[in-house]
Amino acid sequence: MSPRPRVIDPGNLKCARCHRPARLATREPSPARGKIITLIRNWPDGRICSGCYATATETFGTCQRCDTHRLLPGRGPTGELWCSDCAGIPSQACTRCGREGWLEHKQTCGWCVLGDKLTTALDDGTGRIRPELQPFYDRIIAMPRPRTGILWLNKPHVQPLLHKIATGQVPLTHDGITSLTPARSGSYVRRLLVAAGNLPDYDHYLDRFERWLPGWLATIPDPDHRQILTRYAKWHVHRHLRNAATNGTIGPYREQTARRQLRVAAAFLTDLQAAGRPLERCTQAHLDAWLVTATWSDTSTARDFLSWAIRTRIAPRLRLPRVRDNPAAVISQQRRLEILRRVLNDPAIPTVDRVVATLILLYAQPLQRILALRRPDITDGPDDLTINLAGTAVAVPAPFDTLIRAHLVEHATTIAPAANTGSDWLFPGRLAGHPIQPTGIRAHLQRLGIPNASGRSRALRELVLQAPPAVIAPLLGYKAEHAEKIAAEAGNTWQRYAAGAHTPLAGTNR
Ligand SMILES: [Zn+2]
Ligand SMILES: [Zn+2]
Ligand SMILES: [Zn+2]
Repeated sequence: MSPRPRVIDPGNLKCARCHRPARLATREPSPARGKIITLIRNWPDGRICSGCYATATETFGTCQRCDTHRLLPGRGPTGELWCSDCAGIPSQACTRCGREGWLEHKQTCGWCVLGDKLTTALDDGTGRIRPELQPFYDRIIAMPRPRTGILWLNKPHVQPLLHKIATGQVPLTHDGITSLTPARSGSYVRRLLVAAGNLPDYDHYLDRFERWLPGWLATIPDPDHRQILTRYAKWHVHRHLRNAATNGTIGPYREQTARRQLRVAAAFLTDLQAAGRPLERCTQAHLDAWLVTATWSDTSTARDFLSWAIRTRIAPRLRLPRVRDNPAAVISQQRRLEILRRVLNDPAIPTVDRVVATLILLYAQPLQRILALRRPDITDGPDDLTINLAGTAVAVPAPFDTLIRAHLVEHATTIAPAANTGSDWLFPGRLAGHPIQPTGIRAHLQRLGIPNASGRSRALRELVLQAPPAVIAPLLGYKAEHAEKIAAEAGNTWQRYAAGAHTPLAGTNR
């Protein structure tokens, strides 16, 4: 009889830091207890799971016991951040380079392993890194979180892609790099090459639109439609996008809007054709019939195409619909308070989402502008925390200030993705030089019940004028004195802010 398997899971174990149920690390198959995390370290403050271990070996700062600036993997009795010596934890220093941090292999740090992998990937065939790519190498190796870089390089397509660049199989130019597949990785490498100075800067979203346009136009089956849409794209949509790009970087929102304008125009032309009408003979009755069935946002998007077509005499003079407010955008004051309460009290919602939601609901700020905030836009003074919104410093009343402070702490300890090393975005993203993408965040906000409609900012603005942030806090059951003090002090600021500081988000429908 074979011996019974050794019981290694005594049950009821928890990670000492995150308190999630866990099991011990073992080579035996995992006991059938559902999805369970693994404890991989036994440190003075208890058994630590792999996630908490990773956080511990990526947290740098000043030890709250000995005042040294270094890695702080330890925790004091009340959660203080301690260095390994103060906490009595085995050394987390690399035996090769001496740096403290995440050890990828036994006693070899993530940076050393990342450096090896990268050196191999960027070898130009002579056994050394292609000289032009040295700054690219330096930039990646400078990432505060080498684990991310190693995971990236371990993806099957990444090393071959870098190899093609290193050996000159594709030229080190924008066209060369964009010919690489998969396109997503190519585009990521391209941003890194720009950041490293290997390629001149470009507008990511304008470029994306320009690369998308010819392929899309080629899919339009009707040659007349294709011709109209080409003109509309060239003389209107693309031109506006280019103008916007010269005034500053355009965001993903504008690029999406541009694509939508073209798609809706194409759909309108197809519907018209089905009714036996080319655009130049479109009648008011046809237009009105189309509008009856179109959605609110199609109507307002089509308006742009139609007014262009009428102006350029491609379409006859037609009466265009007035754009009404989007009925879906309405959110009641009651609902606003409910969501704010939830955002304040539900620790399960990621801090980034909580902060973004708060700024939308308190100040009616468009998402795009919130994501464009930088760390210096927040001033944590002795009396209160202020945030710079469209050039005006606005006080953030309690308890919302606590939430933003929590985000700042996370911001300082969990590190920005490699691409944004050293950037001061308040919400750094994965794309070099860009904050986090609105797409994901927008979905999270929708789940929280914050309507994602173009009319949102105006609808919210009215609610915000009725109940400014300092009025909201007591409504949510927080101590009024502090809020009132802020209200009195910030009265002028608030008035000024509320009166004029709102400019509509560029690109939204009005
Ligand atoms: Zn844990
Ligand atoms: Zn210490
Ligand atoms: Zn090392």
